[in-house]
Amino acid sequence: MESVSREVAAIVAERLGLDYYGLTPDDVRDIVADIVQGIAANRATKPSIESLVKNILRNKDAFLKAVAAMLLERDKPLTLEQLELIVSHAPQLAGRAAPRLYREAVRLGADHVVEALRGLWRLYGRPTPIRCPRCGFHSVTPDLTCMVCGASLGEEEVKEAIGFREMLALFARSAHPHLIREALRAGYVVVDSEVKPPSLRRPGEFAVELYLTREERRLLEEELKRREDGSHPARA
Ligand SMILES: [Zn+2]
Repeated sequence: MESVSREVAAIVAERLGLDYYGLTPDDVRDIVADIVQGIAANRATKPSIESLVKNILRNKDAFLKAVAAMLLERDKPLTLEQLELIVSHAPQLAGRAAPRLYREAVRLGADHVVEALRGLWRLYGRPTPIRCPRCGFHSVTPDLTCMVCGASLGEEEVKEAIGFREMLALFARSAHPHLIREALRAGYVVVDSEVKPPSLRRPGEFAVELYLTREERRLLEEELKRREDGSHPARA
């Protein structure tokens, strides 16, 4: 069986042009052997080399997906062609492996791959609502580190990235005064899709805690005062 697999692997590698991906027949022999075994197990008679080759070529996409998975597993530096193969033939795996593939793509200067990975990460990875200002993936965790590029972000950077200033102004204008006072007492706010005081944090939902700068506190205090004075009613 092993010599059969070797022969089939050699033909398949040639017909699919696997050398373009820097792969030899040896690289795909284990994948071929699995397929050959599977086919042989379901046949009474021994399949011919040619019928085995045809079977694999008929299922070319599945085969290339298995090749992509193998490339991901073996943990060697990838070539640009290999990276493209993984992204186009195993998008789900690529999305999940985006942090590693991002590093490889940056090393290779492959902007088009980075772009594709951003989308795959949102579909199949573990995206968060906050887009990282450094790598552009939606991958900033509640502790303000980035799952993809590994950056440890400062609060200022995150505030800038999410448009915190406008969110806070909206909170100041529309939240009940006792909620604004609570935020001022706590010294920080919780941000999910909007700004809220700590007590309104929804358990189990993604949110970040952001401390209020002196200037931000002043914004809340002034708006609170305006509203308490009643001279300028809250604008929605
Ligand atoms: Zn990042």
